[in-house]
Amino acid sequence: MTTTNGSRTYLCPVCSEPMPDGLTVKWLGHGPREHGYCARCSRRYETDPLTGEHRSDSWAPLCHECGAEVLLDKVRSDLVDRYYMCRDHPAEVWKFQGDDRWQWAGDRESPSAHR
Ligand SMILES: [Zn+2]
Ligand SMILES: [Zn+2]
Repeated sequence: MTTTNGSRTYLCPVCSEPMPDGLTVKWLGHGPREHGYCARCSRRYETDPLTGEHRSDSWAPLCHECGAEVLLDKVRSDLVDRYYMCRDHPAEVWKFQGDDRWQWAGDRESPSAHR
């Protein structure tokens, strides 16, 4: 059984940015799962709509250009500050803040940060 979800706004569980696009609902053996993509965090999330529990689909953010998971930048990182970047797109950089929190550290403003 599959179900579709057209109207409800799905907010990013981390930054509360609405992510109306890319929300897909899959019906798995143990119940429905919602998958959403947040452009600001550049991460995909899987949420259980029944319990509200969520987790990220990927451990690290995804490159805005190619969608690959960013990797540890050994040149820039030290024991305190750890930076992750896309191997093919050096402008796609995040700083790992621990506890599943990431800060955009790329050369330009965060792509979805409109002012
Ligand atoms: Zn977000
Ligand atoms: Zn890339």
